[in-house]
Amino acid sequence: MDFAPRIVAWQRQHGRHDLPWQNTRDPYRIWLSEIMLQQTQVATVIPYYERFLQRFPDVAALAAAAQEDVMPYWAGLGYYARARNLHRCAQEIARDWNGRFPPTAEAIATLPGIGRSTAAAIAAFAYGERSPILDGNVKRVFTRHFGIAGDPAKREIEQRLWALADAQVDAAPGLDMAAYTQGLMDLGATLCTRGKPACDRCPIAATCIARQEGRQAELPTPKARKAIPERETGMLVLQHQGAFLLQQRPEPGIWGGLWSLPEFDAADDPLAASRALGLVPERRFELAAFAHTFTHYRLHIRPWYIPVRSATLREPTQTERWIPQADLSKTALPAPVKKLLLGLVEAGLPGDLLTNTK
Ligand code: SF4
Repeated sequence: MDFAPRIVAWQRQHGRHDLPWQNTRDPYRIWLSEIMLQQTQVATVIPYYERFLQRFPDVAALAAAAQEDVMPYWAGLGYYARARNLHRCAQEIARDWNGRFPPTAEAIATLPGIGRSTAAAIAAFAYGERSPILDGNVKRVFTRHFGIAGDPAKREIEQRLWALADAQVDAAPGLDMAAYTQGLMDLGATLCTRGKPACDRCPIAATCIARQEGRQAELPTPKARKAIPERETGMLVLQHQGAFLLQQRPEPGIWGGLWSLPEFDAADDPLAASRALGLVPERRFELAAFAHTFTHYRLHIRPWYIPVRSATLREPTQTERWIPQADLSKTALPAPVKKLLLGLVEAGLPGDLLTNTK
């Protein structure tokens, strides 16, 4: 049997069938799952997916919402450009496509934040279109099965992989595209995993070059490692009568659109940084430093807890707010900031200072 029919037969018997975004042909629901699943595990995505759909059940609801209302439903999933593109994309569909999802993978790929593989997945699941996917998991399966060495992110290798992906579909007329696409995703996620591929249960083991040559650990060829730059920042946890001062981050940029703590040069004095905002700090408490890794750098965060006498800022702006601690969990905060603040509240803010801030 050829490659694709073996994947389909295996998917029908052993693949996943009960994920909340399966068993629908609604391109909106499929699209949302595809975007949420980029760089994020299925188990993490499920509760976000369900909450998001409850609040935004269709493209029209998402297009009509303000971006500000969308971000809290994404906060914690990371890679926030995905949420901003999702919202922009819904508005484009409402405006340019009469509220209906474009009918082909090629047209879907013109929308913001949707690459060729994601567009193909949506078109395969929603319309049964014969367009192959090639996401990170599928690249791993293909590089191993076809014995393709070289960094799959490099253009030349990627083109070879796309040609192979096309060839498998071309060789299988009448292929059930939804089952094939799901099968490739399931195989990459459950059997042909990065660390320990379960080759003895794999439906394409008989023709797998990596398996025949014992090269599973070498393929896909890892990226040449670059040292990731390190940066440091100070963060002010400014507290007044149980509320925290938060600033909305500019877009585009890291954590764009989310509400985060004011930052200052970590080498400077946090009391001076608080005074620069016009506040009158009581005292300062150094909190445990931690690091957060972004795609392009690692950020070392040194937070300071500072109760202040009054909430009056020197130059108040639309992008600064005192958020009461009870509202923190429904505010769109970057995950590490949320963890820091909720941890602090849970551990108990120094009580004498809470009552002593007038
Ligand atoms: S045989 Fe092993 S390495 Fe090859 S595709 Fe299957 S799980 Fe991956």
